[in-house]
Amino acid sequence: MIERRVLRFEAPLLEGVELPAVEARGSRDGPRVGLIAGIHGCEYASIAALTRFLRQLDAGRLSGSLIAVPIVNVTAFRARSPFVTPQDGKNLNRCFPGDPDGTFSDVLAHHVFEQVIRPSDHLIDLHGGDLVEALEPFTLYDESPVQQRAHEMAVAFGLRYLIRSERSEAIGGTTSAAAADAGIPAIIPEAGGCGRMDEASIALHVAGIENTLRALGVLDGEVSPPPAGMRLVRRFVWLRAPVAGWWDAAVTPSQSVSAGQPLGTLRDPFGDPLHDVSSPEDGTIMFVTTSPAVAEDGILLAVGGGIEPL
Ligand SMILES: [Zn+2]
Repeated sequence: MIERRVLRFEAPLLEGVELPAVEARGSRDGPRVGLIAGIHGCEYASIAALTRFLRQLDAGRLSGSLIAVPIVNVTAFRARSPFVTPQDGKNLNRCFPGDPDGTFSDVLAHHVFEQVIRPSDHLIDLHGGDLVEALEPFTLYDESPVQQRAHEMAVAFGLRYLIRSERSEAIGGTTSAAAADAGIPAIIPEAGGCGRMDEASIALHVAGIENTLRALGVLDGEVSPPPAGMRLVRRFVWLRAPVAGWWDAAVTPSQSVSAGQPLGTLRDPFGDPLHDVSSPEDGTIMFVTTSPAVAEDGILLAVGGGIEPL
């Protein structure tokens, strides 16, 4: 059975919000998996991948069930608003498990958590680089009592880098962290970026969804082994702008860098340097902000450090 639904929510702030969703149930028993995308409304490759997977899905191949929401942050999608929800300026992926008494993003997170995430046995939350962000594909999961199962899901998804968010340095409020706190193993795969609908990134996401569902026993077929050269990133170091300015990046995602290497320069409106950014350690560039417009404390890029073979 595959059923198209529209999720609506009993909350005054969410009046008029309608989230198209797909519910699929196999004829055999198995786990229930939540599949979501569009928590960030401009990460189009991941949204397109979930839609493509659902259109190709044959319920006869399923054991268990799926609940899928391809565009969770539908207002950010319609407004082409990167990172934040237009109604309150909050990053929805810092608001989970949500708050029914908070602002729009908190209330939306609360209802999505209760209706989609909490009833699931596993969660896959698809992301990518946002409208002004280029990245090397990686899969995030969280340090938690269910981290081993999340790690196995991340390996099955098949992106080259795995990043485990440590509790002490976690950004907090993510779907995967809130799910882990509720005992639900969850992953955040990231591929694509810069508002592009590039086929390679869409294909990575579709293959990742299918292989993870096979590894969970939900989709029939052989589980593909992880690609050669899969690596674990021990430290995920985000570098921010100490001053607002024109960001002139000198590196691109997947590039290897060494400690002290120049990564870019923040300039004033005349082009004079305000601040030079250098790498805090040896590593690989995981993502870069591609827009030159950066606010004070805005994110510039991330270095993956302590990288080791899986
Ligand atoms: Zn995202």
